[in-house]
Amino acid sequence: MYRFCLPARADIGYAQIMQNERKHIAVVGAGAFGGWTALHLLRAGARVTLLDAWGPGNSRASSGGETRIIRGSYLDRIYVQLTARSLALWKENQTRWARRIFHQSGVMRFGAAGSAFPKVVPPLLREAGIAFEELTPAQAARQFPKINFEGVAWALHERDTGYLLARRGCAAVVEGFQRENGEYRQLAVEPGAVSGGAMRSLKLSDGSTLAADQFVFACGPWLGKVFPDVIGNRVKPSRQEVFFFGTPAGDPTFLDQRMPPWIDSSDRGFYGIPGNEWRGFKVADDRHGATFDPTSGDRTASPEAIHSAREYIAFRFPAMKGAPLVESRVCQYENSPDGHIILDRHPGAKNVWLLGGGSGHGYKLGAGLGEMAAQIVLEKRSPEPFFQLARLSAIPPVSR
Ligand SMILES: Cc1cc2nc3c(=O)[nH]c(=O)nc-3n(C[C@H](O)[C@H](O)[C@H](O)COP(=O)(O)OP(=O)(O)OC[C@H]3O[C@@H](n4cnc5c(N)ncnc54)[C@H](O)[C@@H]3O)c2cc1C
Repeated sequence: MYRFCLPARADIGYAQIMQNERKHIAVVGAGAFGGWTALHLLRAGARVTLLDAWGPGNSRASSGGETRIIRGSYLDRIYVQLTARSLALWKENQTRWARRIFHQSGVMRFGAAGSAFPKVVPPLLREAGIAFEELTPAQAARQFPKINFEGVAWALHERDTGYLLARRGCAAVVEGFQRENGEYRQLAVEPGAVSGGAMRSLKLSDGSTLAADQFVFACGPWLGKVFPDVIGNRVKPSRQEVFFFGTPAGDPTFLDQRMPPWIDSSDRGFYGIPGNEWRGFKVADDRHGATFDPTSGDRTASPEAIHSAREYIAFRFPAMKGAPLVESRVCQYENSPDGHIILDRHPGAKNVWLLGGGSGHGYKLGAGLGEMAAQIVLEKRSPEPFFQLARLSAIPPVSR
């Protein structure tokens, strides 16, 4: 149709006219959430500008660092389904990009008696088509003889899942986005004024503004600072320390081919990724640390956390007792009060969307969540009540 109204000027092509007709959406934050949202919006036909202050998967971001576990064992159906969808999206896109981000090493989750996991999770995994086996502690010990299963009452070994490369995954998404003609700009952003129930533009750190039809803020642990009135301490960053211990030279026992990433759901609360792309045996405490400033917080590992990680591996992985620490990282979770994702429209601006609250488990969900966010922004579906801000109404958004 448009072909018949093309202007005579040769320098304005059909594609450019179509481009001008497209909705312009600005996405702030190129982490696991924002990057995938931008890519899905672009593929759905929008014109998309993606902005990030420091870059996709940067060292301050919650999506930074080397690896993240992708596992389906959740108590909530919505996350199991989102994990399965994210897994499919990673597989499809890594083939498209000819890059390996997903490592299918399986994931092992185990815990003490009294947990809801062994009852609730298997039917959810089955429904989502994620292959797994249930193991007694004795069976688990036979299959994984290097793990001490003392105090363990149940084990779930997922076969289809594994781990994702974190910062490299974010970079792959943004590079794919740019190849498909999305615009990426490395600038810090402040929300523009809201008038008449809508935002018109963003303020950028180079002094310019950026106008758009819609805005998505996926600012990870900064979301509360960017929107102190609506989010505030509903997204609270906590200091999390991650350690990489050295395995014996040439020994494959603690590599991901022999031992899957594991999550100890007993009250010890540690998890880890063996092998971890040659970085060492990764071990971290999942319990929330002190409140942390993602911009200027000190990222030096603490002797207490190193000591506690050493104690843990000596107990659960006795052959790793006394292993040398070869690397460490301090990252932060961006915790919502109930540990669930936030994906909702800004209550005062109808064209502004807020996405965050990954709460230490968001990376794996980014691909499927970004797809869901794109559909919501383009008004092809409504936000899930499970992710809406209304559920947090009892918790006032006090700014930090
Ligand atoms: C140690 C650790 C281990 C984890 N393990 C797992 C795991 O095994 N499995 C799992 O699924 N999840 C895990 N997570 C959680 C997961 O990594 C996060 O939930 C997820 O990466 C959050 O992504 P995000 O895009 O919301 O945030 P981020 O990655 O922080 O992205 C936000 C981006 O916004 C940018 N930004 C912020 N403010 C502005 C601004 N004003 N202007 C411009 N740019 C801005 C930042 O630079 C940043 O790049 C872990 C997290 C940590 C820290």
